[in-house]
Amino acid sequence: MIIVPEKEIANLMTRDAAFTAVEEVFASMAARSAYNFPVVREAIGHADALYGFKSGFDRAALNLGLKSGGYWPGNAAKGLTNHQSTIFLFDADTGQCRAVVGGNLLTALRTAAASAVSVAHLAREDSRVLGIVGAGHQAAYQLRAVAEQRPFERIVAWNRTADKVEPLRAVADEMGLAFESVTLDELGAVSDVIVTITSSFDPILSAAQVKPGTHVACMGTDTKGKQEVESALIGQATVFTDEVAQSISIGECQHAIGDQTIRAEDITELGAVINAKHVGRSSDDEITLFDGTGVGLQDLAVAAAVVDLAVEQGVATEVEI
Ligand code: NAD
Repeated sequence: MIIVPEKEIANLMTRDAAFTAVEEVFASMAARSAYNFPVVREAIGHADALYGFKSGFDRAALNLGLKSGGYWPGNAAKGLTNHQSTIFLFDADTGQCRAVVGGNLLTALRTAAASAVSVAHLAREDSRVLGIVGAGHQAAYQLRAVAEQRPFERIVAWNRTADKVEPLRAVADEMGLAFESVTLDELGAVSDVIVTITSSFDPILSAAQVKPGTHVACMGTDTKGKQEVESALIGQATVFTDEVAQSISIGECQHAIGDQTIRAEDITELGAVINAKHVGRSSDDEITLFDGTGVGLQDLAVAAAVVDLAVEQGVATEVEI
């Protein structure tokens, strides 16, 4: 069994490898050669923790396994990350544990890769301004991955407490991109691509704020009750997702489904666009929206990629099980 500890991931994993792994697994899901198992998430009644599993099997890549972890709100006080996860891969032929991989950084990289894949396939080619809504832990990863997908010239960002966007300015500076902290009205008026990455339980971005031709990647909503954009925006958009079942239950589309703005049949898997079974964007005026809910198969895909890299580079630790 191979172990790749959390501290090795940053040296091994690249944004390109994460992009390829996520693009391939979305394609595999849409071709029905990969599927996610039902998600388990429980309040365990200890340390205020939420703990669970996301798992699945990709028959094409032979990735079988699970991501186990959750949220421990007391961790920050102990100098640890509140979100904790570990990915386990199993040999699809024997069921033996093949690898144990640190999942914290990989979660951020696979989430950023998902919105980057959506931008690569759905945003207008002439996109120049990228808007980021939210400036928490995930936001810088989103900025780096998405900004690589189009010849962006300018980043605009909004956070409910404006001073928190400053770390994003540093990332934009490093990438040689102009950066401005703006209001939501300004952000919607100028952005060609918008990424929302907040923990909000109420809509932040309204339909009126988003201009025709924008691609919106809604990445924050991964739980029942969360919401980042008005249902009306989803109603105006051509809607894509990683997995329809998650989109309508725990993703951004849960509210638009609940108030009957859209139907599940109106939502297309991004993998169908990757597989050229759906045209994706069909005009420069169309608003496209990707509901990135975060599936276990993404975790398995990036973990398998990192195991391959660790073996290639001779840094994999092997133990007998
Ligand atoms: P974080 O706690 O570091 O940051 C949270 C962000 O949300 C901050 O910018 C905060 O200002 C903002 N926010 C919270 N409540 C808000 C409100 N009511 N109105 C406006 N802004 C609000 O969290 P993070 O690690 O950056 O994660 C952000 C979100 O992304 C979380 O909800 C997390 O669960 C989700 N997430 C999704 C995936 C996925 O695959 N889709 C993966 C990882 C994280």
